[in-house]
Amino acid sequence: MTHLPERLLAGYRNFMSRRYPSESARYQSLARDGQSPETMVIACCDSRAAPETVFDAGPGELFVVRNVANLVPPYAPDDRFHGTSAALEFAVQSLKVKHIVVMGHGRCGGIGAALNPSAEPLSPGDFIGKWMGLVAPAAEAVSGNAMMTAVERQTALERISIRYQLANLRTFPCVKILEDKGRLTLHGAWFDIQTGELWVMDPKTGDFTRPDLD
Ligand SMILES: [Zn+2]
Repeated sequence: MTHLPERLLAGYRNFMSRRYPSESARYQSLARDGQSPETMVIACCDSRAAPETVFDAGPGELFVVRNVANLVPPYAPDDRFHGTSAALEFAVQSLKVKHIVVMGHGRCGGIGAALNPSAEPLSPGDFIGKWMGLVAPAAEAVSGNAMMTAVERQTALERISIRYQLANLRTFPCVKILEDKGRLTLHGAWFDIQTGELWVMDPKTGDFTRPDLD
């Protein structure tokens, strides 16, 4: 007797009958030798924007941390609980990933909340409101732009936030040192849920463009 939702059990049955047999050698070597992904992805919790799906990645390929609105808190060595920083520390110092991708997405609920800070919190803890405080200055600047439509403000903040998170990544000494040595590269990307298109950030200008697929 199991208590998992039927949809999950059905998916697991498919995994065991189709996917695992085709990838069992890979799983076994990963179990024996450990993981050595070259890329860390920092993505949103949103169920529509899964990095493994967008990048068509198999087991062992991506080291992924997901949180609301794919944010990176700035380096803060204190006694608080820092889940994203812990994942970052492990990816950079132990796995020695070569790339970190901050992947945002369209229609992000977290970004929407940051643009409407006066909305009623979902719970007395207002965890989302406090978490989205990480992009409050940018949210205020974008919210105040009466020339933009609501949709334009949403997309703008989603992309500006990605640049913020890359700057926050560089506040971690280990990230900064390895990037300066050329051993670690930071990337920004934005996923359009409706069209499936990935827009990639130009590291020099900060602009987002769609990569050539040919
Ligand atoms: Zn999101």
